[in-house]
Parts: sequence; C-alpha cells; structure tokens
Amino acid sequence: MLFVITGPSGSGKSTLIKKVRRALELEFSVSHTTRARRPSEKDGVDYHFVTERVFERMVREKRFLEHARVHGHLYGTSRAEVETKSRHRDIVLDIDVQGARQVRARVAGAALIFIMPPVASELRRRLVSRGEDSREAIARRLRNARAEIRAYAEFDYVVVNDDLARAVADLKTVIRAVRHRPDAMAASLTPILRSFAKGRP
Ligand code: ADP
Ligand code: 5GP
Repeated sequence: MLFVITGPSGSGKSTLIKKVRRALELEFSVSHTTRARRPSEKDGVDYHFVTERVFERMVREKRFLEHARVHGHLYGTSRAEVETKSRHRDIVLDIDVQGARQVRARVAGAALIFIMPPVASELRRRLVSRGEDSREAIARRLRNARAEIRAYAEFDYVVVNDDLARAVADLKTVIRAVRHRPDAMAASLTPILRSFAKGRP
C-alpha cells in the first residue's frame, strides 16, 4: 500500500510522518531535490540532494514516479526508491499537491491524505518558528499555500493539524482504516477464501 501525505509547506507533514512511522511500520520514501540542504538535514535521510543537471538527467531517463517544481526548486520521487522500499512494507511519501496529483493518476489504489493547517496565521507562525527558511522563502510558501489548500477535496482524506496529539491520532485512524479496504486486505484473505474452495468442508 502506498500512502501520500500532502498539503502546504509548514502544515506539519514531516512532523506527523515522523510521529506515526514507527507505530504503523511505514517505510519513508526519500525524495530527490535540488534545494540546498538545511543545517538540520542529512543527505540520504531527509532527501537525496542533487544538482539540477543530475535531476534533469533523471527526468530524461524517466526515473521519477512523479516530480515537480515547488517553491522554486525541483523535487521528485524515484521509481527505484518506491519499488525497493514497498516490497515488504507500506510506504509513505511526503510530497506537494502537484506531485500528489501525479501519483493519484499513476498508482492505482494509492491513499492520498491532505494535511490542513488550522488557520493561516498559525501556518505563518510555524514556518517562522521552524527557522529554516528565509523571509522571502516563507512569503513564497504562504502565497502558494493559498492555492494549495483549495485542492483539499481532490484527495481521499483530510487531517486538520491543530493540536498535534489529536492530528497524530487522526492520521493513525485514517491509515489503519485504509489498511482494511478490500484491496489492501486481499493478500491476507487468500487462505480464508481457499478454505471455502469447492470440495473442502
Ligand atoms: P511540513 O513538513 O508540512 O513542511 P513541518 O512538519 O516541518 O511541516 O512543520 C512546520 C513547523 O510546525 C515545524 O517547526 C513543526 O515543529 C511545527 N508543527 C507541526 N505541527 C504542529 C502542531 N500541531 N502544533 C504546533 N507546531 C507544529
Ligand atoms: P521542503 O523544502 O520544505 O522540504 O519541501 C517543500 C515542499 O516540497 C513540501 O510541500 C514537500 O512535501 C514537497 N516535496 C518533498 N519531496 C517531494 C517530492 O519528491 N515530490 C514533490 N512533488 N514534492 C515534494
């Protein structure tokens, strides 16, 4: 099962993913980006940091499942990353709205979850207090958020990230419910169905 967590920058996507990953045994898809590494980030853990040249070559070689220019930088999910990590476990992607649309069109059965900030002023406060982006970068992210939040109804589920503990609980509920969809249950139901096969008691 492939989960996509999307929503505006600063809505809390990476915070929420970090909080639910272990309990729900989710692999994390490490994206490629041309953005400069922040002091708190590790190459290969938070992102694969690459040059525009390398990124463009990967695009030409069709190595991305999805990719987009977001807030002036290139970001993409490599097919190899998803194929390897989703072999034995469910995988979660932290990507923007444009990328989430591409995944929805390309991956049947993907579950798309939109993270909504509680109010515009709090989104600004969180971006500022994160302390990772310049004033211009924050202004650009807030401008883009206006269009991004209007896209919420295109996705399968919405979690409002007001109180963090509540949002973590809501996200866990959504992911657990998705895991009970018939398509997600199919493999584990096989032995049950087989036991009802003709000629058996
Ligand atoms: P995103 O990954 O969507 O860009 P982050 O997870 O980096 O967002 O969150 C942005 C900032 O807001 C971070 O500093 C994070 O610690 C903070 N934050 C996230 N969720 C909450 C919350 N529910 N209440 C208060 N602060 C939060
Ligand atoms: P940041 O620069 O704050 O790490 O991320 C900026 C935005 O890019 C966030 O909305 C994040 O979800 C998005 N993003 C991160 N990785 C990818 C990716 O692989 N593809 C797409 N389309 N967006 C991504």
